[in-house]
Amino acid sequence: MIGKVYLVGAGPGDPGLITVRGLQCIREADVVVYDRLVDSRLLAEARDDAERVYAGKEPGDHSLSQDAINEILAMHALLGRNVVRLKGGDPFVFGRGGEEAVFLEQRDIPFEIVPGVSSAVAAPAFAGIPLTYRGVSNSFAVATGHACAGAPAVDYVGLFRSAGTLVILMGAARFKEITQTLLDGGADPMTPLAVIERATGSVQRTTVTCLKDAGRDCAAIDSPAVIIVGQVVSLHKIIRWFSEGVLSRPIA
Ligand code: SAH
Repeated sequence: MIGKVYLVGAGPGDPGLITVRGLQCIREADVVVYDRLVDSRLLAEARDDAERVYAGKEPGDHSLSQDAINEILAMHALLGRNVVRLKGGDPFVFGRGGEEAVFLEQRDIPFEIVPGVSSAVAAPAFAGIPLTYRGVSNSFAVATGHACAGAPAVDYVGLFRSAGTLVILMGAARFKEITQTLLDGGADPMTPLAVIERATGSVQRTTVTCLKDAGRDCAAIDSPAVIIVGQVVSLHKIIRWFSEGVLSRPIA
């Protein structure tokens, strides 16, 4: 009997933010293939005899290619094992989950997608920054900060102008370039901007500044980080609720 692959979103960091379904899949899995940003406390939930396979890619280092990861998933499933492919945040938000699902479909391997809480929404929530707010912003856009060869460049100016709130993942390396692009494109230099590093974790750090001072105030950004640009960022000073530096909650 062929096994099934579960593409599971692990949530943004704090293991308590995985879904009930995701945790159930981990507890029942024969094999867990996990990414770099997945918390070890979630892996500890797998059975003692479950195989754990690290498939992380360090920034700039591609030790395991996407093809190799796909083949690992297929191999275990074809051996009749139930596989959890555990990914940070949501599997379909910049997580290559789509590519893995296409691959599995082409190989006739059954799969299930278990959504996760994306860092795109969890980071602002834990920083006390509502992505929408009546009268301030009624839409938001989520974009990658990574320049991907072969893919069309992201129109940051256009997105910011139309959406009002811009959320950027994977933007640490090109932070200065992106903020300069927004300024050159006519964004108000006083537009509030937040950088949230290691969101929802015990060492979350939020830096709030404005577009024109961003280069100075966020000189060294630790990955992973979410960048938010827009007027909603100013609500942080009222809504902030999470004590940064306090240890996160254990899984219930
Ligand atoms: N599928 C993931 C995103 C994968 S891309 C999701 O839905 O969250 C990896 C990027 O996600 C990182 O470069 C960073 O921008 C963001 N990210 C993931 N976890 C994060 C965290 N705990 N804090 C801040 N940013 C995070």
